[in-house]
Parts: sequence; structure tokens; C-alpha cells
Amino acid sequence: MGDTLLSWASNSTSRKMMSAVGLPTPQPLTRATSRWCAAPLEHGAWAVAGGSLRDSLAETVRGMGGTVVDDELDGFNGLSGVVFDATHFSSAEDLRELHAFFHPRVRSIVKCGRVVLIGRSHTGSGGAGEAAVRSALVGFTKSLSKELGRKGITANLLTVDAGAEGGVEGPLRFLLDSRSAFVTGQPIHVGSSGHQGSWDGLHEGRTVLVTGAARGIGEATARTFAAEGARVLCLDVPSTVGAIETLASEIGGVPLPLDITNPNAAQRILEAADGPLHGIVHNAGITRDKTLGKMDQKLWDVTIEVNLASVLRVTESLVNAGAIPSGGSVVLVSSIAGIAGNTGQTNYAASKAGIIGATRQWGESLRADGIACNAVAPGFIETQMTDAIPFGIREAGRRLSNLNQGGLPIDVAEAVVFLSSHGASGMHGNVMRVCGGNLLGA
Ligand code: NAD
Repeated sequence: MGDTLLSWASNSTSRKMMSAVGLPTPQPLTRATSRWCAAPLEHGAWAVAGGSLRDSLAETVRGMGGTVVDDELDGFNGLSGVVFDATHFSSAEDLRELHAFFHPRVRSIVKCGRVVLIGRSHTGSGGAGEAAVRSALVGFTKSLSKELGRKGITANLLTVDAGAEGGVEGPLRFLLDSRSAFVTGQPIHVGSSGHQGSWDGLHEGRTVLVTGAARGIGEATARTFAAEGARVLCLDVPSTVGAIETLASEIGGVPLPLDITNPNAAQRILEAADGPLHGIVHNAGITRDKTLGKMDQKLWDVTIEVNLASVLRVTESLVNAGAIPSGGSVVLVSSIAGIAGNTGQTNYAASKAGIIGATRQWGESLRADGIACNAVAPGFIETQMTDAIPFGIREAGRRLSNLNQGGLPIDVAEAVVFLSSHGASGMHGNVMRVCGGNLLGA
């Protein structure tokens, strides 16, 4: 079932009528149509300002194909986006710079434009004033995301540890690109400089595992990895063998009909990989919703087993077997229900919150081996899973986001493929929400 309001809003005449009668008019989002490349920005005008990182940020924007302008917008149809370095902020007075910079420019940002702030993380801050100003950036970014979301504009904050500035380029590229269309209103942390690599053919020569690949987010993820040059192990339950065989033959991957809860799952994955496994993506997941008083033990157990226990078991076995080389990645799929909780989902939310705990832990512990572990937390994504939700709740799920719409499987896939790449190798233990700034968990 598609989003009717979004398809009406794509037509300028019906959009005006919708607006006149007070219906939500979600802005159709611009999404990437080609592979990752060094220069994906199409000659737009970008404003870049702030502290000592300003020049390197401007260099990244130019390297991506953008034009960095001061205030002269002649020849441009507005600003494609703004990047502001606030890493030098140390007192409440410094926040005035935000107003001075954004106030005259914010209305010039084009539809589906981008705002990225760079700040310092809370950890290691000098005193209450410095800690306060760092938190203030989060509040500012989230509010800007809400104000600009109706135009399809995203606003995010990259927090970077001192000494980890070399790790900013990858996430900055992702956030400025149309690949991050449904990522907005959140801080993303950069904790190390990570590894360098090419932006063309992002996963060329790599083997990755995607669980739950037969449909939905997993299928989109497998296809996106393959488009970036990866050999994909397409794992899903044996009953989906037809779907994963078709998928694997279309993308040059390997079908792996296997229940992830099988005690021999890790061994079977190692055999299918037949060499190093550069990335693992734990996407397989189920819901078995009931309020707790009506939920029997079976519904509880199967949800925890598929969504959490098997993820812990299989990942630890693969890591202990040395299957993931330095430069590799582990990406887990959580949910905003794991952040905010949800009625009827005590089992699911516990499993997805557990995924967040594991991400934080592995983010630190695997870092020493050169392996990055991060997670995505999808919000409302248009898949068979959300098609099964009653109409009223489904409609609320769509509209309760800053972007006024649900995301697509490709939005989560793009985030996963980025988090599995060298571009995210300076990120450790992040949970990137792909939720359009959903009210739940925001
Ligand atoms: P989906 O139901 O469309 O697809 C899930 C896939 O996982 C299916 O192909 C299924 O066969 C497979 N799977 C289930 N149990 C398995 C097992 N034991 N072993 C191997 N494969 C198994 O779901 P989706 O909407 O694409 O969601 C994918 C992931 O994203 C899940 O982890 C889900 O919890 C998470 N998520 C989805 C949304 C959303 O809005 N769709 C929101 C938040 C989180």
C-alpha cells in the first residue's frame, strides 16, 4: 500500500488543493539514482562557515562537486545546503554565532537541501558551560530539523572527538548526499580517523552477509551492496529459498537458505563466505505483538531469539573465528521502538533495545581490531511489515515524522551500506536513526 498523500503531493495542482483544505503535504524526497562516487553534488551553492574545521569542510564540499559561496547567490537557485563548524564553542555566548549565521540564510535553502553542524561530543568536556553548549547544539539541530522537514530538508549534527577530525569526511559526505534523504534531526558521533578508501565502487572486492534478504529492507540492502560491487551472501529462512535464489542470481550473490537461529548458523555462513567476510548485516527480524498480559511465552521467546539472541551468538562466533578482517564492519538493525518503547511490543522493544546495547559494546571492543560496529534504527518504513499495521496507526506512523512521510527500504539500505564502508570506519557504537525525525524516540 503506497502513501496516497505523498503521491497527490507530487503533483503541483493537487498539492495546492491539499494545502487549501489543510491536508499534510509531504515533500517528495530526492533520492540517489546512481552509485557512490567522488563528486555526487550537482554544482549547487553551499555555505560553509565556523571555526578551524571550516577550510577542510569546504574542501570536502568542493571535492563532492559543490560550489562554496560566501553570500553571493547569483546564478544559483538558492543554497543547496549549509555546513557549520561549531567545534570551537565553549560558552553560552558562542551560541549567538548560530543565530548570526543561520538566520539570514535558512530561508534560502532549497527543497531537499541539507544542514550539517559539526560539534564536540559531551565526553571529556571541560566544565558545565562547555557541556551545556555541546548539548545546546543537539537541541538546535533537532528543532531546525522540525522546522525545515516540511521542505524535505534534513538537519544533522556530527560530533567529533578531538583528534578524530580525519573521520568526519565520510559521514559528512553521506549527510550531504541524497542517500541520507530520511536521516534527520540527530547527532552522529565520530570517534576516530578511521581508514581511507575510494568513493568509487565503495564495496568493490568485498564479501558481505545480509540476513533477512528475501524481501523488504534486507532485499534493498543486498541489491545496494551489489550495486557497489560487493559479493552478497543472501541469507533468509529456508521457506524463502525461491526468492533468495532469484535475488542472488540477479545480483551475482550467494543464496543462503538458513534460519539464523540454527545452532550451526555461524559455521554455515563461514562455509558460504569461503574467505574473509568484510561486512555482516543483521537485518532479519520479526514482530509478535501483544500487550504483555496477553503475550504467551512462545511469542516472547521467538522474538528475543530471532532479533537478539541469535545476533549475539552468530556475531561472537564469526568474530572469534577471525572471519572479519581489519577494515570490516558489523551493522545491526534496531528500531525506534527500541529507543522509545511501544504498546504491544515489550518483546520487540526489549530485543531492539538489546541490539543498541550490543552495538555500544561492540563499537568499543571491536574497534581495537579495526572493525567498526554501528546500528541503524529505522522508523516507519514502507514494507510488508508496516503494511500489516491497521490504517489509522499506519497513517500516524507516517505523519509523525519531521518529513511527514514514511521512509522506503532503500533509505535504510543506503545507511547500512554507508555504515559498512570505509567512510564510516571512524564511527563506533552509533545508532543512526533512519526515521525522518520521527517523534517516537526523537
Ligand atoms: P520484513 O518482515 O519485510 O523482512 C524480514 C525478513 O527477515 C523476512 O524476509 C524474513 O523471512 C526474514 N527472517 C525472519 N526471521 C528469520 C530468521 N529466523 N532467519 C533468517 N531470516 C529471517 O521486515 P522489514 O520491514 O524489511 O524489516 C527488516 C528489519 O528492520 C527487521 O529487523 C525489523 O525489525 C527492522 N525494522 C523495520 C521497520 C519498518 O518500518 N519496516 C522499522 C523498524 C525496524
